[in-house]
Amino acid sequence: MPQETPDPTVTHCAHCAQLAREEREAEARGDYSLAVDCRVLIARHPHGDGSR
Ligand SMILES: [Zn+2]
Repeated sequence: MPQETPDPTVTHCAHCAQLAREEREAEARGDYSLAVDCRVLIARHPHGDGSR
């Protein structure tokens, strides 16, 4: 894989960017349950926009 594909929905948030990185690393290790956990945490992380 020459380069990662940054997810525009999470890269503006340092916390979610870190989670996205952990998700990729977990998948690379075959730790899919941890990868799912990371995705859930990203989806639930409040950013003050998108929902009022
Ligand atoms: Zn976030």
